Amino acid sequence: MNTRFSSIMPITNRPETRFVEGKGVWLMDEMGRRYLDFMQGWAVNTLGHSPKVVVDAIAEQAGRLMNIGPAFYNEPMVALADQITAHSGLDEVFFANSGAEANEGAIKLARKWGTKQKNGAFEIVTMQNGFHGRTLATMSASGKPQFELLFEPKVPGFIKVPFNDIGAVEAVIGEQTVAVMLELIQGEAGVIPADLDFVQQLRELTSTNNCLLIIDEIQTGIARTGQLFAFNYYGIEPDIITLGKGPGGGVPLAALVATHAVSCFEPGDQGGTFNGNPVMCAAGCAVFEAVTSTQFLATVEQCSAQLVDALEGLAKKYGLGGVRGRGLLLALDSGPLSAVEIAAAAFEGGLLVNAPRTDTLRFMPPLNVSAQEIGEMVARLERAVEQVIREREGE
Ligand SMILES: *Cc1c(COP(=O)(O)O)cnc(C)c1O
Repeated sequence: MNTRFSSIMPITNRPETRFVEGKGVWLMDEMGRRYLDFMQGWAVNTLGHSPKVVVDAIAEQAGRLMNIGPAFYNEPMVALADQITAHSGLDEVFFANSGAEANEGAIKLARKWGTKQKNGAFEIVTMQNGFHGRTLATMSASGKPQFELLFEPKVPGFIKVPFNDIGAVEAVIGEQTVAVMLELIQGEAGVIPADLDFVQQLRELTSTNNCLLIIDEIQTGIARTGQLFAFNYYGIEPDIITLGKGPGGGVPLAALVATHAVSCFEPGDQGGTFNGNPVMCAAGCAVFEAVTSTQFLATVEQCSAQLVDALEGLAKKYGLGGVRGRGLLLALDSGPLSAVEIAAAAFEGGLLVNAPRTDTLRFMPPLNVSAQEIGEMVARLERAVEQVIREREGE
């Protein structure tokens, strides 16, 4: 692996092919091989590969105004912020280029708020196994065990507690705490949902302790879980949410979204050359229009039910584990089999699925995936499972 294109830094093990084309759920490499893509760039391609509405929006905006810089307003920037605030119930948006940058902004905003409102408090409570990105601060905020020894010294001020353990948060929250920050479904950890009680108690606990609640919706937002935002399932109002992956439908677009009460950046505190870029925001507007159209969420739920059903059937037939997640962010416990081996066999058989853990397969299809495409995915997955079982028996 990683021998063919030596000018690319080997930051991950990549297959030795180049991908050249994508349409909807399908992907094609330079040899003309077709793959059914249930990764979609890690839940980024909300409407699949190169959806017409996004392609058109980008082309139109690129021909009109491609870049003006963050020192000026532009139309798509304002239009998209209006949409996000109207649908989230929060008030103000700062656009960014990646999830990590949005989270970095959330951390900075919380610290600024702590300086102004809470005597310089700066500690943020985050969750074990949580994932918030790969900048130094967001790696420090993450609870991914593999990050622990990397790039020391870390950014200080993050207190990690076990996920879904309200007592553990109670034990550490206090005068020094500005915020609690978490995902509502821990994606990279293997699609682990937060309990309803835990999140509702967290909202109460943060409010009574004069702390902010930051929800990282980078993997769960933009209809991925069957609601526009995962926090909609919990009946809570966060102070800050971060969006990424899905909003651009394939282009780099992320957002830090906050309530008026919390939004306290002053000129010079926050910025970025490409932030709020009109072409990216035009793509975002097209995606947002699609996911907020009537019946969109209901269709995601239907597809989800079909996929859950099929995965449970497969699990029963081959003695695998349970299905986790919500909407079209789902995981299958591979039980006694290696998820990594299944994903590798699936790739050979023309299917892209991701194994975030050795016992977990993750499914992130486009939100407009069809029933037939789900059927085809399950057929290919079943062949991969059978191949792994055969190889085990042959050992
Ligand atoms: C992917 C992800 C991030 C980081 O986003 P990047 O765009 O890769 O920087 C942060 N938080 C969660 C929950 C994510 O899934």
